[in-house]
This record gives sequence, C-alpha cells and structure tokens, in this order.
Amino acid sequence: MVKAVVGANWGDEGKGKITDMLAEKADIVIRFQGGANAGHTIVNEYGKFALHSLPSGVFYGHTTSIIGNGVALNIPVFFNEIQSLTDRKVPMPKLLVSDRVQIVMPYHILFDQYEEERLGGKSFGSTKSGIAPFYSDKYAKIGFQVSELFEEERLREKVERVVEVKNVLLEHLYHKPLIDCGELMETLKRYKEMVAPYVCDVSAYLDRALKEGKTILLEGQLGTLKDTDHGIYPMVTSSSTLAAYGSVGAGLPPYEIKDIITVCKAYSSAVGAGAFVSEIFGAEADELRRRGGDGGEFGATTGRPRRMGWFDCVASKYGCRLQGTTEVAFTVLDVLGYLDEIPVCTGYEIDGKVTTDFPVTAMLEKAKPVWKVLPGWKCDIRGIRDYAELPENCRNYVEFIEGQIGYPITMVSNGPGRGDIIYRARV
Ligand code: GDP
Repeated sequence: MVKAVVGANWGDEGKGKITDMLAEKADIVIRFQGGANAGHTIVNEYGKFALHSLPSGVFYGHTTSIIGNGVALNIPVFFNEIQSLTDRKVPMPKLLVSDRVQIVMPYHILFDQYEEERLGGKSFGSTKSGIAPFYSDKYAKIGFQVSELFEEERLREKVERVVEVKNVLLEHLYHKPLIDCGELMETLKRYKEMVAPYVCDVSAYLDRALKEGKTILLEGQLGTLKDTDHGIYPMVTSSSTLAAYGSVGAGLPPYEIKDIITVCKAYSSAVGAGAFVSEIFGAEADELRRRGGDGGEFGATTGRPRRMGWFDCVASKYGCRLQGTTEVAFTVLDVLGYLDEIPVCTGYEIDGKVTTDFPVTAMLEKAKPVWKVLPGWKCDIRGIRDYAELPENCRNYVEFIEGQIGYPITMVSNGPGRGDIIYRARV
C-alpha cells in the first residue's frame, strides 16, 4: 500500500509533521523529488529538527528511509544531516539511496549563485542550492547518476566532456574561476566513498516490499503551486511536486498510490517571488508571521521571513485537485486562535469577473482577492483531541473551507508535535 503526503500550496504546509506522524505505521518513507532547497521542521521526543534532504521517517527504528531517483542529492548536505541527527542521540536510521539518483555537483551550486547575480533584480528568488542547474543538466543528459561514480574511467571521460562546456560559460558569461577536472574527480571519489554503503536498486526493493504487503509513504517537497508544469511558472521549482510524480521519482507503479494526503495550512505563506493573491502586509502580516508555525514563519533552510496571507480557497482547491487528493490534513489551525475575525479568500476578481478557478500566471498577476470574513474563536485549541470539543466557530472555519475546496478534511493539526492531531471521520 502506498500513501503520498504532498502539499496543496507553496510549500511549508506542515508535510514533515504529518509524514513523521504517519511514519509510525509505515515501513518505508521515500523522498521522490526536490533537493535540500526546502526543509521540513519536525518536533518529536528527540527535540526539534529541520530536515532538508532526509525523509521524515528517520526518527523511527522500524522505518527504512529512501532517497528516490527523482531527488537532487547533495551528498555532503545529506551526510551532515545524518551526523547532526546522531550527534543529538537519534539512532542511526536505516537508509537507502537509489543507484539512479543524480548528484548535485559543486558547480551546480555555483552556477545557481552566478545566475542569480547576473539576473539581479529579475532573479527567481532561488535558494541557491543548485536545484535549477541540476535539473537542467539532468534533462540535458549531462547529469551524473550515483551509479556512474563507480566506473572511474567512464566517469573521468564524462567529467572532462561536461566541464569543457561549463568552463566556457564560467569564462565568457560569468567571468568566474574555471573548474579543475582533477579536483572535481577527487571530490567525486569522496562522494562515492560516502554513499557506497547505501546504494540500492530502489525500484526492485520497492517491488519486493509491495509484494510483502509493506506500507510505503511518499514524501513530497513544496506544493502544487511550485510544480514546474501546474504551478506559478516560472516562479516554480524545477521538479514536479505532484503525488503522480511519486511513481516516477521513486520507481513505483502509479496504480499502487492508493491514498493521497494533501496538506493544507489554515492560512497561507510563501517563499520566493511570484503572484500571491491572498497576501497580507504590514502589522497584520508581521503578527501572523510571528505567531505562525512553531516559533514563527521563517524558512527552515534559508531563515528567510516567509510572505504571509490568509487562506486561499481558489489556490487550495486547485492545489488539491492536481494532487489527486483523497483526504486533506489541515494544519496549524491553533495559530489562528488570536483573531477576532478571519478573512478567507473565496474568489479571484480578474478583469471585473469573479472566478474560483485558479488561472495561468499572466491572469494570476491581475487577480484581486474576494474576501469572506469568518468569526474567530478567540482561544487556545492546543491539546484538544476530539473534533466535537473544538469551539463552534473553529469547526465552522474548518467546514467552510472543506466546502470551498471540495475535498474531505480528515485530519486537523493543532500543534507541532506528533500527538497534536484530531482525526475526523469522512462525511
Ligand atoms: P513542510 O515543509 O511542509 O514540512 O513545512 P515546514 O516544516 O516548513 O513548516 C511547518 C511549520 O509548522 C513547522 O515549524 C512545524 O513544526 C509547524 N507545524 C506543523 N503543524 C503545526 C500545527 O498544527 N500547529 C503549529 N503551531 N505548528 C505546526
């Protein structure tokens, strides 16, 4: 049985917490796309952790955590992260790395920085982790799979061929120091030694696991609106953030994905540039940012303050639809307890017409939010475990949003911890 945990919005919806929680009953947790450019924050008995490349199952002894072929694997970041966990007394997790996953090369990170510098004010707001150059090279067929590290002569030949092109750009476009093939080969040798004990034919492993009736969780990074095709192009990420891609990025049959849990946050936040219709500013935004998440809405990887907004029903309905949602986990609801009234964006006004369909980017940039204001509940809902015990206005908020997005909210998260969850029966 395969379940996917994915985001409906711009990322940071609380997928890490939901995955960590569901991993208790899973045998395998697998990352299938993205790299170390975004993070999941997890709070559990070992403390508070920001994971960037490790799957959120690493805290359990019984789960195997896998880096699927669709990921952008930054080998030093990956191993530093393992070290930071074991330093804090988390037992060494069981890890596997796909032999087909590609490696973020040191020059991908440099090219990301140089390109942002070159674009200046027109930049995409990249986290400069090398993700866009990585995926560009992957599809230009000049990327490096982990398996290639083990064939030294073949590797050297390819490194020389690829570096020749990179050095032309470094010299003539960016005016930066050139790549030295010998040095790069040394780095790749170190990478090989680090990764060797974990390399595995992941799709074959998963095939066996499925036949043995194991439970597999696919863990998504970012959310629908950052998907390369269906998101706010070009202010998107360079890999697909959709559950469907889990099949490709892990190496699983698509029909095995039976449950798609889409995580939606009770308000909105986004990082990076791009249209954000329900965005709020000034003191109103500062207060939500300060109270948001667990200790404020600042990027888990970058520390950047997140852009804030009220819940966007148009974007979330679309976000859930593209994921193929079977159920919604509605998170961070506890944070809204300070508000007298809570605005919710229920439509977009574009050229004088109101729509609830999420448009293409050019139209999105013209969209103005249509607000509906709901009454707040003015109390702390943390610690509540039974849906019926939530204040009436709080239940009304959940049910109003459920009606707008059209997918069942089966879980309500009212705190960052594993136990802070309220299960709701499907209606
Ligand atoms: P992810 O990338 O989707 O996993 O999201 P992040 O980890 O970047 O952001 C979610 C933040 O909200 C983290 O700091 C979580 O600890 C926190 N969080 C998750 N669920 C809840 C919740 O229900 N209530 C509160 N207050 N914080 C939560």
